[in-house]
Amino acid sequence: MAWNAWGDPALAKPLSADIRSLLEQLLGVSPQEGAAPTADEVRLRPGSLAAEDLAALAAIVGDGHVSAADADRLPRAGGKSTPDLLRRRSRAEQDAPDAVVLPGTEDEIAAVLALCGERRIAVVPFGGGTSVVGGLDPVRGGFAAVVSLDLRRFDTLTELDEVSGEATLGAGLTGPRAEELLAERGFELGHYPQSFRFATIGGFAATRSSGQDSAGHGRFDDMVRGLRVVTPAGVLDLGRGPASAAGPDLRQLFIGSEGTLGVITAVRLRVHPVPAVKVHEAWNFPDFATGAAALRAVEQQGTGPTVLRLSDETETGVNLAMTSKIGGGQVATGCLAVTVFEGTTEQTAARHRLTRELLLAAGGTSLGEEPARAWEHGRFDAPYLRDALLDCGALCETLETATSWANLERLKGAVTEALQNALQAGGTTSLVMCHISHVYPTGASLYFTVLGAQKGEPIEQWAAAKAAACDAIMANGGTITHHHAVGTDHRPWMPQEIGELGAAVLRAVKGAVDPAGILNPGKLIP
Ligand SMILES: Cc1cc2nc3c(=O)[nH]c(=O)nc-3n(C[C@H](O)[C@H](O)[C@H](O)COP(=O)(O)OP(=O)(O)OC[C@H]3O[C@@H](n4cnc5c(N)ncnc54)[C@H](O)[C@@H]3O)c2cc1C
Repeated sequence: MAWNAWGDPALAKPLSADIRSLLEQLLGVSPQEGAAPTADEVRLRPGSLAAEDLAALAAIVGDGHVSAADADRLPRAGGKSTPDLLRRRSRAEQDAPDAVVLPGTEDEIAAVLALCGERRIAVVPFGGGTSVVGGLDPVRGGFAAVVSLDLRRFDTLTELDEVSGEATLGAGLTGPRAEELLAERGFELGHYPQSFRFATIGGFAATRSSGQDSAGHGRFDDMVRGLRVVTPAGVLDLGRGPASAAGPDLRQLFIGSEGTLGVITAVRLRVHPVPAVKVHEAWNFPDFATGAAALRAVEQQGTGPTVLRLSDETETGVNLAMTSKIGGGQVATGCLAVTVFEGTTEQTAARHRLTRELLLAAGGTSLGEEPARAWEHGRFDAPYLRDALLDCGALCETLETATSWANLERLKGAVTEALQNALQAGGTTSLVMCHISHVYPTGASLYFTVLGAQKGEPIEQWAAAKAAACDAIMANGGTITHHHAVGTDHRPWMPQEIGELGAAVLRAVKGAVDPAGILNPGKLIP
């Protein structure tokens, strides 16, 4: 993973001259002055961990698994939000964890946490490094130093129960590696967030991730059957049986706990046989409301697509202009929807037939399979486009929420208006695009992508727009996050999301498992 951009540097794609000129004409985007620093030129805040602390950490995990070198600190300095990437491009001094620790066993994690508690060192668990909400910020929270606890050595498939369809996967396995290990035995997890290539099993659990196949396979939290968590107070092994009435489900406290309550080391997950067949079909709807009603009909009747998503008019038009390949010009107006079906031949055919009957009846026009295949083919590539846009002086970032079907249009309108007004106040004309990519019988997610010109200090420019959007989400019945999690960025809105008493409950749990408060201070818990 590139330290200052998304993904594999070999796959970076500069924008064409035509696109750059279009962005300049439409949005006034022009390159910013000053070249971004190379890794050698970046100035990191000097590490503040004492030599004896480093030696004590090395005594636990081994010399080769602790580092205070800038080359190891820099890639763990934060996640991959636009503000993270803008910070990495800055020549001002950047903050970073004081050291990186790579434990190999649960006992080592427990010993590291005990040492950090004694010596007042904060700990930030680190998975794939793809957080977009400040979840990896090296916040010291009043402690003397902060270390990044990298889980990459927890990288095995420890058990596959083929009869029950359950697999136990190490927290540090990336999405592709987990799927590779399962595929060797004919199984699949089917969790494909856009960050799939780099994010990890532990990170998915810690953030309540949602993948693009959620219509068929559910969110990551739906897949979790059990998990092991090392906390400063001891180890928890949660989840017995396929379902249980033994009080509140404690797994749910640790799923989504974002490294504030414990370190997830292994997750037992529902898996399924690799599907025999896949069928793709794209659709055009005259407008977003008609398309959303069609998706609702499909989800409420349960006809079973694996992927079900709808872009609004702006996103459909911009995607077409940027890629020049979605739909071959057929969807220049209206809204593009994508459906994918999978399973056995018979199941897939039945699911496809029932769904297309509903979509036709709801006003959809079939565009055939090609646009849906093109979407699937490029589905992990869009983040590279964001880097190219930032390089050209554009501001580009995403945010997401969810609400009931009845409230969807109101929330979409309010968030769009809040973003546009906040950016306009700073002199920036923006394009706000939106799609639905996760559906439920009672509602859906809304995912916004914002594009404009960088003006002045772009991190502050985006912070103002994001705050306006978050206020609009809370005022109009949305959740502060559907799948990106809370981190530092959404934490100010948590009291509105869960109430003061809810916040007190979270603080009480934290007090029980992390009495010194060393785990990920300043994140999630208000
Ligand atoms: C381009 C891009 C696309 C994205 N697309 C999606 C998407 O489609 N769906 C989606 O849900 N999210 C998406 N995300 C957000 C992000 O990928 C998810 O939140 C992901 O689950 C994070 O996993 P990770 O392994 O990278 O965790 P990290 O980013 O390393 O960590 C995330 C948080 O979890 C904590 N954590 C990590 N591992 C552990 C552990 N083992 N135990 C305890 N705490 C831990 C960290 O301290 C941090 O607070 C996207 C992000 C980017 C940059």
